[in-house]
Parts: sequence; structure tokens; C-alpha cells
Amino acid sequence: MFSYRHAFHAGNHADVLKHFVQVQLHKYMNQKDAAYTYVDTHAGAGVYALDSAQALKSGESEGGIARLWGRDDLPAALAEYVDLVRAMNPSGKLRYYPGSPYVAERCARMEDRLRLFELHPADVKLLDQNIRKLEAHKAEQGERARGRRIIVERADGYQGLKALLPPPSRRALVLCDPPYEVKLDYKHVFDAFGEALGRFPAGTYAIWYPVLQRMESRQFADRLKRLPAKEWLHVTLSVATPGPDGTGMHSSGMFILNPPYTLEATLRETMPYLVKVLGTDSGATFRIETGTQVTGAMTGRSGTGPRVPVGNARRASPLSGAGSLRLPGQAYEAPARAPAAAEAGDAAKREARRPFYKTQAKPAGATGAARGETGGSREAGPAPVRSRSPARPAGAAGGPGASAGAPRKPGGRKGPGRP
Ligand code: SAM
Repeated sequence: MFSYRHAFHAGNHADVLKHFVQVQLHKYMNQKDAAYTYVDTHAGAGVYALDSAQALKSGESEGGIARLWGRDDLPAALAEYVDLVRAMNPSGKLRYYPGSPYVAERCARMEDRLRLFELHPADVKLLDQNIRKLEAHKAEQGERARGRRIIVERADGYQGLKALLPPPSRRALVLCDPPYEVKLDYKHVFDAFGEALGRFPAGTYAIWYPVLQRMESRQFADRLKRLPAKEWLHVTLSVATPGPDGTGMHSSGMFILNPPYTLEATLRETMPYLVKVLGTDSGATFRIETGTQVTGAMTGRSGTGPRVPVGNARRASPLSGAGSLRLPGQAYEAPARAPAAAEAGDAAKREARRPFYKTQAKPAGATGAARGETGGSREAGPAPVRSRSPARPAGAAGGPGASAGAPRKPGGRKGPGRP
């Protein structure tokens, strides 16, 4: 039952997409003063050592975070995510990778609440240690939450989610990231979010899934579009052409119910870069779709081909907020940058809210760096040397506490892992 260990896959292209989007979701939630509850239904170990036996065996981070590590041309939103990873690796070598709980801990504010569910006995122990260490570091810095800011539970995430909704704060961000080892996971997710929307329609719900040949996977996003959320956003990233035998995970998606209105534009600015840097052949591409449950209106656009309108022009594009409704076939234009004064105001606001990744804990464990070197136009630049002083998070998964298991290589279906 507990064969999946995320330590084999940490920092791969799917994690890059998921955690980059997660940072953006927190950033959006942080714009309002009111506190929110973050629920991680499938939390994993929280921190991963990329030089652990598991991570090295699969080498998956080489096709993910390692390719972004030394870049100095990152789009702004992607830089926020990479900076978070850099801050936990102050030596300048990529050794540790944050899991979703760590990303949440860094991005959420002291008044926000984190509820983390994990079933694997070893991973939940590591998660708990990592979180305690982060909290101890915060306390040393004089940052103390009122009450229990973070609760780790060894419990089923679907049930846990149900019990937490609606949250007392009436604001919630939920990340659901199951292993999808069994077909039933697709059904569980669908059912869980149908129920979650019934209990708390205003929540922002982010669901990661692998894009695979398997029927459940291919139909999954279409099923999610039928959930009764006011709006949804669907983004997929493919880094390679699927193999003829359909094995391997070259593509993954994030489906967000009630997404931030700013997210579509951010993705449009960022996904072409991810395709360029993470793509390994001409099959690399992305797709962004948005729609509403009420009208079913949807536009679907991929990264390489022309835009393909699937339904009406979107009812309420974030860009239409600036007064322009894009019509089918009309070229996308990035929103004009705010004038300098507004930018200065934004910067001041950001500063006042404390940058996400100011001080970092460093996970214990492994030695040796993993930095991606790729050929052709996908070169990696030198790793920046960071001067920020880190705190040390606890044991990283893949370190001494992690158990063995065969990895799922991006190009082949092996052992425990997402199918
Ligand atoms: N969200 C993590 C991240 O981004 O760093 C990775 C999570 S990993 C893909 C999925 C995790 O879900 C595994 O650690 C697995 O043990 C755990 N898991 C599987 N079924 C679960 C369930 N029903 N409830 C809670 N956790 C579960």
C-alpha cells in the first residue's frame, strides 16, 4: 500500500509546475489581510535531499529544478519559486528540494494555518521533524504564531479535507497531490472536490495529476471541468513526446478550481519559458484552458500551435479586466506593465508583507550537489552563491530515514511512483 515515495521524484518537471503554481497561489492568498487555511491532502515528507540514494537513482530532478537552477533569465514569477529553492541551498549547490508543505510554510504568513495530511509512516515522521525544525527556527527569529499554526496528521487526506471545510477563517487554499498509483485516486479526487465545493464553494482548490495514456488520466480534466466551481483553470506542461508504448510521465497538469484571476496571465508569461528550458524534444509544449462551470465557456490554447477556441471567448478573462475581451484568433497581448510609481507601491507592499523566502532552514542529511547540465540551447549557467544565512530544516526525505523502493523514471514505468 505504501510503495510510493516522493523522494524518487522530487524536483522533477512535474514538481516544478506544481510548486511554481503553488507559490503563485499563496502569493495571491496573501494579498488579503484575512488569514486562510492551507490544506495539503497528500503532503509527503516536506523536504527532499537530491543527493539521496533515491533521488540519485531516478535522477529526475536533472530534468526539472536542476535546469532552472543556474538560470539568470527566469521570468519573474518563476524566479519567485526558484528563489525559494535557492534560499534553502545557501551554499549555491542544489542539494535540497522543498515539498509542498515546505513551500506553504515559506509562503504563508504567521496568521495562516497549515493542515498537512500524510499516510506513509516514514514520510509523516520526516514531515513532522521538518516542520518542527522550521517552527523552532521561526521562534528563534522571534516569530511565533498564536495557537497551532501547523498541524501534521497521519490521516487520509480526503477525509481530513472534508473535516476542515468550511474553515473558520472562511478562506482556504487546498493542494491535492495523490500518487495516482491506483485508478481509484482519480475517483477519490473527483468525489472529494465535489464534496469540498458543496461545503465551501469559495475555496481555491489545486489538483495535480499526471497526463498519461491511461483512460482515467485522459478523461480526468474533463471530469473536473464539470465540478460546480464558478471558474476553473487548467494548465499542462509536456516536456517530451510520449513514447510509442505510452509509458513514462512526460506531461502533467494542474487543475485549479476558483483560481486567482491573475494566474492565467502569469502562466502565459511563464509556460513558454518552461517549455524551452525543460523540453527535451519537439513534443514539448504547454496548454492553458480556462472556463466556467455555469456556461462551460472555454478557450484552449497550446504553446506551440495557434490558439484553438473551443467555446465562446472566455467570459471573464483576467485580461478582459483591463477592458479587452480577446476574441477567438486574436493574438494574446501581455498586459501592459504598471507604471513605475505603481510598481514602487507594489514593491513597498511586498516588502511590508515580508518576502517569502527571507531566511531558510536547511535540511539535514546528504552531501553532494545535483545540478543540471544540458546540451544545445538548454544550457545551465553557474549556480549563484547566496549569502543569506539559513536555518537548518530537519531530515530530508531520501536521507537516512527514507526507505528503499524502485523509482519511476520519467521515461519508463518502474516500481513505485505515479503511474
Ligand atoms: N505534495 C507533495 C509535494 O509536492 O511535495 C508530494 C506528495 S506525494 C506525490 C503523495 C503522497 O501522498 C505520498 O507521500 C503518499 O504517501 C501520500 N498518500 C497516499 N495516499 C494518501 C492519502 N489517502 N492521504 C494522505 N496521504 C496519502
